Amino acid sequence: MPTLRVDPLTPDPSVIARAAALLRNGEVVAFPTETVYGLGADATNPEAVRRIFEAKGRPAYNPLIVHVADVAAARRLAAPWPEAADALADRWWPGPLTLVVRKSPAIPDIVTAGLPTVALRVPSHPVAQAILRAAGVPLAAPSANLSGQTSASQARHVEKSLGDRVPLIIDGGPTEVGIESAVVDLSNPTPRLLRPGSISRDDLARLLGQLEVPSGAAAPGAALPSPGMLDRHYAPAAELVLYSGSQDPVIHARLAAARAEGARVGALVHHTLPGACETIVALPPEPAGYARGLYQALHELDERGCRLILVEAPPATPAWAAVRDRLVRASS
Ligand code: AMP
Ligand code: MG
Repeated sequence: MPTLRVDPLTPDPSVIARAAALLRNGEVVAFPTETVYGLGADATNPEAVRRIFEAKGRPAYNPLIVHVADVAAARRLAAPWPEAADALADRWWPGPLTLVVRKSPAIPDIVTAGLPTVALRVPSHPVAQAILRAAGVPLAAPSANLSGQTSASQARHVEKSLGDRVPLIIDGGPTEVGIESAVVDLSNPTPRLLRPGSISRDDLARLLGQLEVPSGAAAPGAALPSPGMLDRHYAPAAELVLYSGSQDPVIHARLAAARAEGARVGALVHHTLPGACETIVALPPEPAGYARGLYQALHELDERGCRLILVEAPPATPAWAAVRDRLVRASS
């Protein structure tokens, strides 16, 4: 499993060509996008896509996002391409927004877990763009981590999770956004936000005129409207507990229990310390910077041997919705 390092802005064409050759040959390759690292495979080749599910241990009912180089390529995979998709694509593509539309027959059922819809995204990361253009095929690419675990925002996170399962990892440095794309379902008359992301719900609603925000997760085993709706997701190996201020009684109860077991405790804070913890990671007190550092922080707390991670809950405001979503799922 070689890891090949590239300049994130001007990646070496010979490395890109190597990735593209593997992908066209039905292999999987991990590469950076602006959200998190993706584990890509030719979305038109069911055998290749099966390798993604195998490598990640991902349940077959959890559909994949298909990445394409531009809007024209996205249109070819939709049947039909809705009008609202044009407005959203104009404004946010390339970028951290995924659109769910009715699928064309070019997309095999394994990609969509049998759903009649497909999730499409045009990533902005120059490495992802270069690989898509060189491969010349749409790439199914979920996050490059074992299913249910913390996503990878750096190549070494991919190595840790999938290192012995993928033939090539392209290292383009840490990702810019840090959390997964927002997912908007346009396959029904009323647009629905299936997964919050760095693009705010209010901005999406303003452009669309209307936006439904469903709550709760789909029943396990059923085809999920969105994989981000799996209840437990993005989770570190340690137990993660949210607290809401230094007086939160949960802190004292959990700290006492951890002490009794001799377990190492970590804290992930942006404002208020929970008290005495062995390992403290502080993230910026604003959502974009927090999101950028979140997965690195969770990987680090795991690596430093924390068995319990106390996480200061971010404010319950729309700006923090995507970060809160990931933290709640990681702690469930
Ligand atoms: P990840 O596992 O992080 O790559 O996330 C995959 C994302 O794909 C989820 O959040 C889903 O919203 C989305 N997704 C993929 N296919 C579909 C689909 N056909 N319908 C709804 N959501 C989908
Ligand atoms: Mg994932």
